Parts: sequence; structure tokens; C-alpha cells
Amino acid sequence: MATTTTRRRSGANTSNQPSATDRRQQERLPPHDHRPTTDDCMNDDQLLRYSRHILLDALGIEGQERILASHALVIGAGGLGSPAALYLASAGIGKITLVDDDCVDFTNLQRQILHTQARVGMAKAESGRQALQAINPEIDIVPLQQRLSGGALDALVATADVVLDCTDNFATRHAINRACVHHRKPLVSGAAIRFDGQISVYDLRRADAPCYHCLFPEGDDVEEVRCAVMGVFAPLTGIVGTMQAAEALKLAAGIGESLSGRLLLLDALEMEWRTVRFRKDAGCAVCSPTKDGQEPGYLPRPDADRESADGACRLAPSVQAG
Ligand SMILES: [Zn+2]
Repeated sequence: MATTTTRRRSGANTSNQPSATDRRQQERLPPHDHRPTTDDCMNDDQLLRYSRHILLDALGIEGQERILASHALVIGAGGLGSPAALYLASAGIGKITLVDDDCVDFTNLQRQILHTQARVGMAKAESGRQALQAINPEIDIVPLQQRLSGGALDALVATADVVLDCTDNFATRHAINRACVHHRKPLVSGAAIRFDGQISVYDLRRADAPCYHCLFPEGDDVEEVRCAVMGVFAPLTGIVGTMQAAEALKLAAGIGESLSGRLLLLDALEMEWRTVRFRKDAGCAVCSPTKDGQEPGYLPRPDADRESADGACRLAPSVQAG
């Protein structure tokens, strides 16, 4: 391929006035300190592979370079993690750490599209790595077959630019939230059960942003149901997981408006969406500083790691729509 590609700058316009997109991008920082440098410039193959992204004014070359420089931590390689990781890989997230301690089961194949019948019995993390690498061999994929908790979870979250919670139980989700609060990492959280889906973003880079615990306090009387016993509509996990990928890519590129402060609820049987708006809880035990000045994020929760993240269609806590 010839090396005559003309670089388009994101948000380019013909007037001297900054466009609405320019202004939004100036106000929004990418989720990490790493700014693309000349060493990060895309080669010809990358310019071709990501050309349909580069054509988008809001994204352009600069946005795609930020995506290429980003590290996404995907926790759970099941129904939600499958489509999320597939789109992150195809869109060129530079590094994906894919975590799951489970192995591919025959009953997973109905919705967990990272995996194939030939890979039943294989670790989901490795099965996922093979699927992602087949789509995009250029990116760095790190499969981890482990139950992520405690110090390992903390260390991994610290290295990520964006975290996707694709797990299926409250305890793990709260542990992920605490680590993201502590390290001020943006968290994209999804849930799917039966025909009900949920998605939100907790942009914990911002001091005024609510965290997962603000919305779903631990210890509340919430309904904990799992797809293993309740069932889940296959494409529902695809819809929610794909939206998680979209939010993660926007955060990585520093474009658009995230779902921070908004919870989207989908009734896939009626195919109706609702939006619930919520704010930071000034008394939140996780994200608000304590009266004695203790840093938020790691208040003792002895039962926090009692369950593993073993799938992707998760619990749907009862929410009263405002
Ligand atoms: Zn909070």
C-alpha cells in the first residue's frame, strides 16, 4: 500500500471557530496520561484497518491513536465479556486483559460468542484469546485464568485505562468498584438476566461522579439472580456487552458523553429502554471521604470476595425508576 495517506485531524472544520466536537474534546481528558506521540503513529495497515473509524469526525486519527494506546481490563469472558472484548479487539484497543477463572461449557455456547463447540472444556480466557487474536493479531491480549480478587485485582485495575465489569455477582462487582474508586479508573458496568438488561458508567476519574456503591449499596435487599438458574435471552447479552464496548471505546478516545450518572434499563421482551438518573451519594461508604479524612475506596468488607466471576449474564438488582 502506498504511503500517501493524508492525515485527517479529528473535529476538523473549515471555519476558525471550534466545532461542538472540538469543544467537547477540549473539555474531556482521555482516561490516561499517555498521549499519542510520533512513535505511536499508525502504519499503513493500521490506517487501512481502522479507516472507518478515522473517517468519523469525532474520532479521527487522534482518537484512534488514543484507542490504540489504551489498556482495557475485561473481567468475565461470558455473555457480556464476549461481545465487549470482540469489539474492543476489532476496534484496536492496544491491550486487552481478559480475566475468567471458568472453562467453556456446552451451555455457554447459546450466548457466549467468544467460544466455539470445539473449545468446550478449554479455559474461557484462552478460548477468548484465540478468538480475539484471530480478528486482530496486532493487539496485545493477556488471558488470565484466575479468580480476580484482593491484591491481584487491585494491581490489575491500577494498570488499566478502562475497566469493564462483565461478571455475574454483586460481591465481585463491588470489589471491582472499590478498586476502580481507589485508582480513579472509569468503570463500565453491564448486567443481563432473562429479558432485562442494564448498563451504566462510573467515571471515577471525576471526584463528583457516583460509583456503583452509590447506586447499589452493599447490604441492600436486592434480588440476586443468576442466569445459570433463571435463563437469559441470548442477544440481550450481545446488546448490553456491545454497549459496554461502545462506552469503553468512547472513554478511551475521550469523545462523546458517557453514561456516567445514568443507568439504562432495557426490557428486551417489549424492546423498551428507560433511563434512571442518579448522583453521587455524599455518604457513600466507598467513594466519599470519611470524616477522619481517610481516603475512599478500601473500607473493610470481609465478605467481598466470597464469589467468583464465573460468567457474563449477571444479576439484575431491582431498581426503582425515578
Ligand atoms: Zn459511591
